[in-house]
Parts: sequence; C-alpha cells; structure tokens
Amino acid sequence: MIENEERLLAVLNSAPVVDGHVVETLDDPRMIRVRDRLQAVIRGDADVETLTPYVNGVKRRPTLTPRGITWELEAPADGAEYAGLVLEWARLQEELPGRLRPCANPECTKFLIDHSKPNTARWCSMATCGNRMKARRHYARRSAQNA
Ligand SMILES: [Zn+2]
Repeated sequence: MIENEERLLAVLNSAPVVDGHVVETLDDPRMIRVRDRLQAVIRGDADVETLTPYVNGVKRRPTLTPRGITWELEAPADGAEYAGLVLEWARLQEELPGRLRPCANPECTKFLIDHSKPNTARWCSMATCGNRMKARRHYARRSAQNA
C-alpha cells in the first residue's frame, strides 16, 4: 500500500542533515530505535536479524467488509506501528528489490524508493542533493582542467 510506503520513507528520512548537522525530528525513542536499525540494515551495516524483535508475536487479523478484506496488525506491547514499518520494509525487499536505497550524496542521511523504469534514481531529491552533487562534479572537473 502506498501509504505504508510513504510512512516508511518518512520515518527513514526523519533525521535529515540541515546545515551540516543531523536534525532529529522524532520524539518517540522506540521509533528512533527501529528507524536506526532499518537504516543500518538498508545500508548493509547490520544484519536483518536486528529487526526480528519488531515482528515477534505479530499477527494479522482479517476483517471482512462489503469492499473486501482488510488486515489489522496486532503486535505485543503496542508494537503494531513499529512492526508495520519492518513489514513494509520486508515487502519492498520482496516486491521491489534494491529499490529502497540511501541517497547517493555522502553528506545526506535520507533514503529513496526508486519507481522509475530504468532504476537509476540516485538522490533523495533532485532539487536538493541531485543539483548539489552535479554542481560539485562540474566544479571539480573545471578545477582539474585548470590545474
Ligand atoms: Zn539526499
């Protein structure tokens, strides 16, 4: 579901770099922990098993409605919201492998989900990181030519 995907990306991108400093925008310590673990797993810095505690004991309960079936997530210790993030990450791994990745700007802490056909998106945002990195490459080329 697109809302789940947007929610996951919003949480992953909730500690952006602003003026050279990481700015924390979450105030829930459990949410910060699951975000940090997800980020580490996506970057390849941590094992998938570090996410296991968030899906332990999780169940999906079906509810029939006139429009079909909806699934409600149940998790121990009010953990459904955190479990939902991990389950959404797992869904993306299965259905869109490699599409959720860190921004290619090494100074940026954000992530992107690439839905483009060629799968070549590199920046969390073309307007910020994309243009900045292009400008940097351009100046690096010019100063190399002038050296
Ligand atoms: Zn970026």
